[in-house]
Amino acid sequence: MPFCPKCNAEYFEGVRMCADCGVELVRDLLPKPDFSQEKTTVVFEAFAQDYLIGMIKGLLETNGIKCLVFDEIGTDCLGGFQTPKRISVLEKDAPRAKEIIDVYLQEVEVEKK
Ligand SMILES: [Zn+2]
Repeated sequence: MPFCPKCNAEYFEGVRMCADCGVELVRDLLPKPDFSQEKTTVVFEAFAQDYLIGMIKGLLETNGIKCLVFDEIGTDCLGGFQTPKRISVLEKDAPRAKEIIDVYLQEVEVEKK
């Protein structure tokens, strides 16, 4: 049965477009790379400064790990003091992401001394 990838409504054979969404129907549930639909894990949480969060985000992305900074999607509208910033990655990327963050934070610590 074809179905709409947007609203998941099922249609009869031969139907090609979803009547509600106007999108093309698909055959099977393809694992779409839609970040919001996948399980994510928080790999970093701290009252960190923006530059640190930015560095970690860049580092993860350089390593091909998609990440989401919670601050960016508006959970923190108080200027960053009340809410710790969180970085989430997909569950499958979590172990690697934690490793990368650990190494980075150690480097930062070393530089301070
Ligand atoms: Zn639809």
